[in-house]
Amino acid sequence: MNSLNLRIDLHVHTCYSSDAVTTLKEVIVYSKKRGLDGVAITDHDTLSGARKLQNSDLIVIPGIEITTTNGHLLALNVNTPILPNLDINETIQKIHKAGGIAVAAHPTLFYKAASSRRTAFYDAIEVMNSSAVPFHLFTYLNKKFATRLSLPQTAGSDAHYAPEIGTAYTIVEADPDVEEIVRAIKKKATIPVGKPIPWRIRLKGEALRLKRKT
Ligand SMILES: [Zn+2]
Ligand SMILES: [Zn+2]
Repeated sequence: MNSLNLRIDLHVHTCYSSDAVTTLKEVIVYSKKRGLDGVAITDHDTLSGARKLQNSDLIVIPGIEITTTNGHLLALNVNTPILPNLDINETIQKIHKAGGIAVAAHPTLFYKAASSRRTAFYDAIEVMNSSAVPFHLFTYLNKKFATRLSLPQTAGSDAHYAPEIGTAYTIVEADPDVEEIVRAIKKKATIPVGKPIPWRIRLKGEALRLKRKT
């Protein structure tokens, strides 16, 4: 089988995150609509959504966005829950034990509970995050960070609302298989592609999220 250039949004939340409104069905519908080959489901500190989302047309990488004492960390290709609120390197060790890879989420985004710019044993750096404002400044800073550590670069929408899915994605040169994709990411066979979430969509998403909370 020849390797393909797969388009994968490596940072997607579902309604299993308390701050997101996307249903599992919407993940599939919008991923197809945006021409993606796959998504990583990375809900905050839970695998519940990722476990339930299985679809034959879409590659689904089970993941978690883990809250560590040093900010957010994406665990990709994990099938067991990983405890939040631990030190970042301790968390990375647990991810590796679980067979996954650790990606620094929005590492330079200082206004969120971001991964600090602290050097840790990351496998890759998320250099594009469509939720970050201003997008181009953070993309520049994240790329600089990744280059300094000479680590692979990934991109994801950080979608919390279905129409945001695919605003950024990673082109991964790999066979369409989760293990192969993760291996390719580690080998730097990635190209981050993306843009910021348009304001019109961002505001609609915020309104829906507020409605859900009240
Ligand atoms: Zn985050
Ligand atoms: Zn996120």
